[in-house]
Amino acid sequence: MTDANLSLWRASAKEQLNLTSLNDSIQVDVAIIGAGYSGLSCALTLAEKGVNVAVLEANTVGFGGSGRNVGLVNAGLWMPPNEVEDALGLDASNLLYHALAQAPDLVFSLIDEYKIDCEATRNGTLHAGVGRVGMKQLENRFLQLSQRQAPVVLLGEGEARTRIGSNVFSGALFDPRAGTIQPLSYALGLARAALSQSVSIYQNSQVVSIDVHAQKWRLKCSSGGEVMANKVVMATNAYPEKLFPQIQQSFVPIQYSQFASQALPDDILQHILPNKEGVWDTCTVMSSLRLDQSGRLIFGGMGGAGLNTRLLDWADKRVKQLFSQLPKLDWQYAWSGQIAFSHDHLPHCHQLDDGIYSLVGYSGRGIGPGTVMGKELARYLINPEHKMPLQMTQINKVSLREMKRSFYEVGAHIYHYGQLLT
Ligand SMILES: Cc1cc2nc3c(=O)[nH]c(=O)nc-3n(C[C@H](O)[C@H](O)[C@H](O)COP(=O)(O)OP(=O)(O)OC[C@H]3O[C@@H](n4cnc5c(N)ncnc54)[C@H](O)[C@@H]3O)c2cc1C
Repeated sequence: MTDANLSLWRASAKEQLNLTSLNDSIQVDVAIIGAGYSGLSCALTLAEKGVNVAVLEANTVGFGGSGRNVGLVNAGLWMPPNEVEDALGLDASNLLYHALAQAPDLVFSLIDEYKIDCEATRNGTLHAGVGRVGMKQLENRFLQLSQRQAPVVLLGEGEARTRIGSNVFSGALFDPRAGTIQPLSYALGLARAALSQSVSIYQNSQVVSIDVHAQKWRLKCSSGGEVMANKVVMATNAYPEKLFPQIQQSFVPIQYSQFASQALPDDILQHILPNKEGVWDTCTVMSSLRLDQSGRLIFGGMGGAGLNTRLLDWADKRVKQLFSQLPKLDWQYAWSGQIAFSHDHLPHCHQLDDGIYSLVGYSGRGIGPGTVMGKELARYLINPEHKMPLQMTQINKVSLREMKRSFYEVGAHIYHYGQLLT
């Protein structure tokens, strides 16, 4: 491995931006904190309707989950639809289901409209079944999704084998609505689109305090500047810094790591994911697989704060089990990110104060939902009569948060270690 903590997405991003930090005092209608998909989609929608918006980012655009994820643009949520219905009730879950079923359409149409150079590949995704338990899960999902007219296809072992190029899986659920992207490039492209609509975006401008001044919200930045705004959107998901500790308490942070190999030779690429679908599996300690446009294999798994060598050994071993035809891979990139798992594994929109809103808790499914919810919140800010697909809820503190975080992290380590011993 050439670098222990280097993201392929950062190295291969083609979209470039030249942004400064905020050193002056400015006035806007809406200040958005966080330049990931949620904040940028919200900013873009507001600006398209003529609203004066500034986005303040503590680091750089896509620093959070939006620049670190797997890049699977899936429809719906991570939770199966019947469970969403149990949690929200029939009407609210239907509203959310229909909005998020169309999430890939929104993502890929923005990519088309703003010509975002992000390796967009809309060939579907495969949820790969491991063993009988995994297949049972997929059959249930298939049934639930088919009842809701989703065009998903349940593939048997032979078809899954051909599509993935591995004989480890017992079948797969194919969703043709989905696809893959270079996630950081998508975030950078959304930022470019927002800039083209006159949004001001400031990087290295961490918001360190919010108070009321002259009947407006005053946001002070670490860079010395300040913003006076009528409304504020906290779009910080799993990466909230300094502000509103209750947001941090509303999710369990879970680490997920990825490794990218050298570009694979053409003869091998003919047999591994020849249609370039993105894949994730049904294991409790989930892993994911995909190719990028240069033919690198990108393998990911839960766990990995600090990306230890055991995780790398596990990646080597698991990839060998999946693809015995592959030579030992040279993992040239390795990076990790933090996922915000809310108490009910659903995303949430909160009103934190009069005119301050937050979007949080995508629970590992945030490309489509983040883009949709950012847009929907913008529409609500413009017109409070607008019915959002997620009702505003009170912030819910996750109980035993630290214990749950350690449980997932340690659980992933034990699982990977166990697999190394087999
Ligand atoms: C490893 C990993 C894999 C994933 N894979 C997938 C996938 O394949 N498909 C999928 O749909 N989803 C996936 N997700 C989830 C998805 O990436 C996130 O849900 C999504 O990116 C959230 O976007 P966001 O804009 O809400 O937040 P983020 O992209 O996290 O952006 C929040 C931003 O807020 C900034 N910020 C925080 N505090 C402040 C402050 N005080 N002042 C200024 N700025 C601040 C942060 O620096 C950060 O840039 C994955 C997530 C991870 C971590």
